[in-house]
Amino acid sequence: METQYELIVIGGGPAGLAAAHSAWCKGLRKVLIVERDRELGGILNQCIHTGFGLEYYKEDLTGPEYARRFRRMLGGTSVEALTDAMVLEISSERKVYIAGKSAGYAVLSAQSIVLATGCRERTRGAIGIPGARPAGIITAGSAQRYINMEGYMPGKRVVIVGSGDVGLIMARRMTLEGAQVLACVEIMPRSAGLTRNIVQCLHDYDIPLLLSHTVTDIIGKGRVEAVIVSEVDGGFRAKPGTEKTFCCDTVLLSVGLIAENELANAAGIIIDGQNIRTSAPGVFICGNALHVHDVVDNVTVEAIEAGAAAADFVLRERGVSKKRADL
Ligand SMILES: Cc1cc2nc3c(=O)[nH]c(=O)nc-3n(C[C@H](O)[C@H](O)[C@H](O)COP(=O)(O)OP(=O)(O)OC[C@H]3O[C@@H](n4cnc5c(N)ncnc54)[C@H](O)[C@@H]3O)c2cc1C
Repeated sequence: METQYELIVIGGGPAGLAAAHSAWCKGLRKVLIVERDRELGGILNQCIHTGFGLEYYKEDLTGPEYARRFRRMLGGTSVEALTDAMVLEISSERKVYIAGKSAGYAVLSAQSIVLATGCRERTRGAIGIPGARPAGIITAGSAQRYINMEGYMPGKRVVIVGSGDVGLIMARRMTLEGAQVLACVEIMPRSAGLTRNIVQCLHDYDIPLLLSHTVTDIIGKGRVEAVIVSEVDGGFRAKPGTEKTFCCDTVLLSVGLIAENELANAAGIIIDGQNIRTSAPGVFICGNALHVHDVVDNVTVEAIEAGAAAADFVLRERGVSKKRADL
């Protein structure tokens, strides 16, 4: 038997939490959040540094503190949350297929859907770093989760590839945990990260930022032993004779984020990257799934709008059905 919801929010990160709360405030009472992780909060749970909420709350919060505020707000509502449950598929008729620890396999049906599935990190394959394929090459976000949530230290001598905010934050985090961060290597002539992160995470710890440089080789059998870094020209080609060798055991990749849109794509639902409305009536999208946001405050504002739009859709459809029934 299918369970019917007014709204199903897919993803329990800051976007999903704000969207669900906003829809509830607008009058929806049968709202479900489905989250594949074991708890709500999304990427914020692993971001134990401060810098969240500067605009929305005018306070400098950590990621978990920011997420807790939304979890508390939801605590006073009838919004349900299903964690440890992965949405496998959706349809443009708003069926939601899930598999989870407690839910097993289930098909849910919704009058509206908000996609709040966040983004994922680009990997080595996406940027084609040459060289051997030993252990010790991981994304910066994975390293962040290992250290801050799982209690594992991924390495001792580290080179960071890419100077996006995740990489910068992890340069500082690895240093504070006792690792030696040898360099942050950025192919562009300037960093993609926020200035505050360059100052607080690299300059404050004397970690060199090598602009217009890239990794041209990775050496190691079982584990990374060294990386070769070269300067690049205006066409991003390595300049011969500029090679530097860094003996290290770990390479952290911070080379961009990609919106997580597979559910919509597989269902043939079109997203334009700016609009919270999709091509499917009643299906909305917000947060990093729509486009990658630098700060969570903007995610919150957008998600409130998406939740309200979903509620308006449901209430409008209900009004239309009632009018039809009254005729
Ligand atoms: C390392 C790092 C540092 C940052 N630092 C700052 C900072 O200092 N200040 C700041 O303001 N912002 C910062 N940000 C940005 C901010 O954290 C993000 O913009 C925000 O978390 C995005 O929220 P979201 O809900 O869209 O995505 P996420 O937080 O990624 O949440 C998406 C959720 O969807 C779930 N999900 C995905 N697919 C499925 C599925 N099929 N089924 C069920 N669940 C699913 C995921 O498990 C996840 O919990 C940082 C981000 C990162 C990565």
